[in-house]
Amino acid sequence: MPTYRELIQHSQIERFDAQVLLLHLMQKNRAWLIAHDDEEASEAVVAAFSALAARRLEGEPVAYLVGSREFFGREFRVTPSVLIPRPDTELLVELALERAPKNGNIIDLGTGSGCIPITIKLERPDLQVSALDLSGDALLVAQANAHTLQAEVRFLQSDWLKAVAGESFDLIVSNPPYIHCEDDHLNQGDLRFEPTGALTDGHDGLHHLNTIIEQAPAHLKQGAWLLLEHGWDQGEACRDLLQRAGFAEVKTWQDLGQNDRVSGGRWAAP
Ligand code: GLN
Repeated sequence: MPTYRELIQHSQIERFDAQVLLLHLMQKNRAWLIAHDDEEASEAVVAAFSALAARRLEGEPVAYLVGSREFFGREFRVTPSVLIPRPDTELLVELALERAPKNGNIIDLGTGSGCIPITIKLERPDLQVSALDLSGDALLVAQANAHTLQAEVRFLQSDWLKAVAGESFDLIVSNPPYIHCEDDHLNQGDLRFEPTGALTDGHDGLHHLNTIIEQAPAHLKQGAWLLLEHGWDQGEACRDLLQRAGFAEVKTWQDLGQNDRVSGGRWAAP
């Protein structure tokens, strides 16, 4: 049987991915691999690793193969029913944390794995946090994450803000599906395995962003922020929509790659 090192070397997938898959199978951490990489793998491990590596070679995302992804320093369970949390979305969370008033009432729209509201609640236990998603399967994943990470978040199944009619919030955040339905990235790489409804709006990418911007004012307290994640080329369009809807202090922020990533504004009722 090959050693662990040989198993990784001969896997045909990226070295980092191979290490993550092997460590997941062994239920060990990276330090263990460094100390034990010249040991012979068992037949069962070789078989299980080869099966995972073959799936990775076909393009399945590592996060789905191991069933989790780290976000803001915590492990979130993910299944093919939810988008895999992206590091870019940490910017949205940071901006929300800076703007959420003490003891405020916060809501996340299209929550997916629940990475946004759960992180917000754990970083700011003073806040009351709610999260909505249209997908019942996604909500099951989000609820399981909240339970494991012990975050008290209210989850509701909802078509955008419909389920919270009559409620007002101190901050609304969302990372909605914003990819243009004809964007070729949808047919490439890991995106092929993620839920289409979490990636694209089936239109030009601005459809859901626009719906949220239209619905939000009825649910925002005076001076409350709406913060939206979007594509690198949608900053101007989002600012335009926010301004037309009557938001003040409209602004776009860049992610670590210097791309426009989040736009937002404050609701100042006329
Ligand atoms: N809110 C979730 C995330 O940021 C899901 C977003 C989505 O499905 N578009 O990962």
